[in-house]
Amino acid sequence: MTDLSGRTALVTGASRGIGAAIATALRDAGAEVIGIGTSISKAPPEGIEPIDCDLSDRAAIEALLARLDGREIDILVNNAGIIRRAPIAEHTTEDWDAVMAVNLDAPFLLTRALGAKMLERGHGKVINVASVLSFEGGVTVPGYAASKAAIANLTRSFANEWASRGVNVNAIAPGYVTTDNTAALRSDPEREAQLMARVPLGRWLRPEEIAAPVVFLASDAASAIHGAVMAVDGGWGAR
Ligand code: NAP
Repeated sequence: MTDLSGRTALVTGASRGIGAAIATALRDAGAEVIGIGTSISKAPPEGIEPIDCDLSDRAAIEALLARLDGREIDILVNNAGIIRRAPIAEHTTEDWDAVMAVNLDAPFLLTRALGAKMLERGHGKVINVASVLSFEGGVTVPGYAASKAAIANLTRSFANEWASRGVNVNAIAPGYVTTDNTAALRSDPEREAQLMARVPLGRWLRPEEIAAPVVFLASDAASAIHGAVMAVDGGWGAR
């Protein structure tokens, strides 16, 4: 039931980290995969069609959508995300805006446009990448935590309207994964030890461990799942 042959997937932030693992896993499940990144064309994952697009730029998103016009996107994975760390009193407006643009605005704009085509065809899958910080305030990452809480609720908003029309909209909420996004945490032994002590699984997650549930949500096996924000966090949320 997780054979994705004949489907076309678009994965944002597919150049590295979790997005590269998702793009590769969807490809391995049989899908044709388009990967988006600011400069993904320089070194795309094997077997992924790269398209460069800066998702913080609304004009660039419009250009991307125009370029995709006529292509049937069956699966949209809104994975691209950025994090800016600074104590709230020193958190700049630029950092706030940049995080919101990539983590929240771009998923809304892409889902609205590509989802409309899915509705016309009567089928489609949208998977947003949320976070454990969809449920917690985090420390020194106010924009990130706000954007991830918002994407979780946006997932539910889309699902409420689209579930009866053949389009599944869900989210994955990863725990702490070994990618560039968490490099600062992993380079601070004290903070790393605190974090890992709180994970029942007791270790960092691998990007592939986030990709496998995304393949499931992108497949017919998940036909009854709508508006879910699925924790893939090594038990973090259970603690
Ligand atoms: P990452 O290794 O830093 O990779 C980020 C990806 O997003 C890259 O492919 C990057 O592409 C792309 N991206 C960033 N800004 C972009 C922009 N303006 N336009 C287009 N693409 C852009 O991050 P990651 O850890 O894999 O995170 C992926 C997702 O998982 C994010 O939404 C993140 O919030 C979420 N997440 C991560 C963790 C974790 O522990 N790592 C935990 C929970 C949630 P380029 O390199 O081409 O710019």
